[in-house]
Amino acid sequence: MKPNKAVIDYLATPRPFLVNGEWITSDENLIENSIDPATEKVIGSFYAAAIQDVNKAITAAHSSFQQKNWRGKTPSEMAKHLWTIADLIDEHGDTLAYLETLDGGKPFAAARYGEVSMAAESFRYYAGWCSKIGGRTTDISIPGDFHSYTKKEPIGVVGLITPWNGPLVMAAWKIAPALAAGCSLVIKPSELTSLSTLYLGKLISEAGIPDGVVNIVPGDGETVGATIVNSPMVKKVSFTGSTETGKKLIQASAGNLKKLTLELGGKSPVLVFDDADLGKAIPGIADGIFSNAGQVCVAGSRLYAAPEIYDDLLSGLIDYANNLRVGSGLDPKTQMGPLISAQHRNKVLRYISDGIDQGAKVEAGGNKIDGDGFFIEPTILSDVAPSNCVAQEEIFGPVLSIIKIENMDEAIVQANASNYGLAGSVWTQDISKAHKIASEINAGIFWINCHGIPDMAVPFGGYNQSGWGREGGPEGLDYYLETKSVIAAL
Ligand code: NAD
Repeated sequence: MKPNKAVIDYLATPRPFLVNGEWITSDENLIENSIDPATEKVIGSFYAAAIQDVNKAITAAHSSFQQKNWRGKTPSEMAKHLWTIADLIDEHGDTLAYLETLDGGKPFAAARYGEVSMAAESFRYYAGWCSKIGGRTTDISIPGDFHSYTKKEPIGVVGLITPWNGPLVMAAWKIAPALAAGCSLVIKPSELTSLSTLYLGKLISEAGIPDGVVNIVPGDGETVGATIVNSPMVKKVSFTGSTETGKKLIQASAGNLKKLTLELGGKSPVLVFDDADLGKAIPGIADGIFSNAGQVCVAGSRLYAAPEIYDDLLSGLIDYANNLRVGSGLDPKTQMGPLISAQHRNKVLRYISDGIDQGAKVEAGGNKIDGDGFFIEPTILSDVAPSNCVAQEEIFGPVLSIIKIENMDEAIVQANASNYGLAGSVWTQDISKAHKIASEINAGIFWINCHGIPDMAVPFGGYNQSGWGREGGPEGLDYYLETKSVIAAL
């Protein structure tokens, strides 16, 4: 497959960034290259925002909030705008998907029919919420005649910071609820994958969102990201990224007590009982770890299998891994693309070799794939001790660790023995057992006989060190709202 003409035209010149409705292309800004991880070639470039640009973006968002350019609209007008953005995303779906594939390496079909559709759905879902935001009246016990009620108000200017593994969809998961709540915003995409967020900005402008309400400032975390987090004008930051960076944000916001929602890393357990339907479990589990080359926060990376079905499950998974077609996301036959960078590939390979040094056995893969692109083989490690680094730490690559267990009671204890708590799944045909396990496992989202399926209506977020707060559903909207209580003496 070849990218369409719209993508070729879009990438022909360095992409500007968006501040107060203007697309900035100043000679003073650094131009950063975007690399295709499947070929290691430059596919395009973008202007990186400097600290003064970020401050201008924050000021523009603040003025638009003060002037009520957006939050002053009726809920129905807001909803129409969000719905228009969704329609534009669908209309430009191929272009956005090519950008995701070229910039991040994911197979085109996954980008087109997974992420682009989900991004549009995010705007449609929160368009529906614009007209459902409201407070409540409450009777109070103070003697006298009073009327009391609560109001929901937008929190103010919000900073949104996203990672590289799903740039478009993660931008949509944050921008849509922020706009539905009436906030103005400054978003910083990952420096590794900024192109689709910049393109989304074009569509947002086209949809008629007033200038200054949505500002996009690409650049690195230490300057652009940190400036957003340090600004007292930014009332809340919604961050998706690693647990390590999340901890830095907590420190940086301590001085101004900024509100934070943090969608962080994971090490999600997968429990397979002896009555599981292996015909469904094997592809489901493999997809749960190998899709997007394992660069998924909810990747099912720790496997606990009942001894009775262990051999059949393992041989099915090995077969699946060995037959997975690894290659460029532009090849329609590709099932797994590359890792995002050479640096990240080295990190994943280091985990594999440390895991082996700590006693793990390689059942499939384990190696870098020679040639252009940051590819590695889909990897399965068995005999993994619970203390092994590949059982404890987030690898963020296509590496499945099978942990040694004697029985499923031990599996539940081991599954919960983690600093993380983002997601998990269970595979069994006994539905009552499945629901019991769902309530036993410490995870923000849990799947039964499937893994990694998101939906905008379902809140998403982590227990433990996997984060604070939720995205999706009404819960996700609430993190962009303040509650005001009013008591009136009558
Ligand atoms: P990262 O933490 O390195 O970077 C995330 C974002 O933070 C980037 O935009 C980066 O530029 C910015 N950043 C870095 N340092 C910063 C600082 N000091 N101040 C402000 N911003 C800063 O994460 P990554 O490597 O881009 O993404 C992979 C991680 O994201 C994995 O750990 C993965 O589990 C996590 N993730 C979590 C979810 C979730 O919903 N829980 C979803 C996707 C990815």
